[in-house]
Formats: sequence, C-alpha cells, structure tokens
Amino acid sequence: MRKIYDHQKTKYQHAAIDAFGDYMTVDSALAIPQQDIFVLFEEIKDSSYFKEWNGDARLQMTFANLEGKYWGLYHHETLAVYLAHDSADARILCHEVAHHLSYQQALDVPHHGPTFCTHFLNLIMLFADACDSELLRSCFEEHKVEYYFPRTVKAQQLRKSMGLV
Ligand SMILES: [Zn+2]
Repeated sequence: MRKIYDHQKTKYQHAAIDAFGDYMTVDSALAIPQQDIFVLFEEIKDSSYFKEWNGDARLQMTFANLEGKYWGLYHHETLAVYLAHDSADARILCHEVAHHLSYQQALDVPHHGPTFCTHFLNLIMLFADACDSELLRSCFEEHKVEYYFPRTVKAQQLRKSMGLV
C-alpha cells in the first residue's frame, strides 16, 4: 500500500506537548488506575459521539508490552487499542480512539492529520475532564495544526460565546 504522508505529525506533537506537558516521558505520565481506564473506554464506546462517527462496537483495549517505544498503539486490522503497562492515561486512550474513528472515516487519512486532530480534540473535550481542551485547541492554533472546528455540545457553547453562531 502507498505510504501515507503524515504531514502534520511534528506540529501535532509540539502542540500536544505545549498543552499537556511531555507525557511521552515516563516521569510525567498522568496515570490513573487500570480499572478506571477500562471504565472510561466503555464510556467512550457507549457515547453518542463514538456511535455518530461510526465507531465499531467490537473495538477492544488491552495492556501490552510496547517495549518502551510507544505509549499506545492502534491496529485497525484487528480493531485493537494497545496501551503500555504504565499508560493508563485518558490522553493516550483518547489519542488511540481518535485513530480508530479517523480510519473508520477513511483508511487513507494522514495518521495525525486534520481528521485525527478533530477527533482527538473532541474526545479530550468529552472524556478527559482533567485536561484543558481549550488550551489544546489554542495550542493547535498556535502551531498551525489543521483541524475542523469541534462539533460537540461543549464546542457549540464555546462557538456561541465567541459570537460565531
Ligand atoms: Zn498517533
């Protein structure tokens, strides 16, 4: 298969680090108990957002030894999200679920392109209460990360407050 150019991966990574700190290092991982991340995963799968964007109910999540190379991985062929053992973190889960929803739309979307970034921002807004989604959005703007304006209820309230609707 043709290799898909991940044109804004670096910009995305810089924006995410600015917003959330460098969670790609072990020391600053915002770990939550593993059972809580399973509850959150089910909550995401049950949500109208996940269903609206054609999320697959068969999506699985499991902990795996990722050899320190990744915090999380998503395999579209097997519909599986893998989290490293020390990655029970809502941000990492939202990142991998955003990959799932992006590939549900089209298999040739850039891995961290506008579709992915929109899903990631929406999922953070909806499911990662400890994270400042508005800060993430402003970091996307600052780093010129392309995304579509989120269309969640919270985002619509924000749009209203900005006088956009
Ligand atoms: Zn990714």
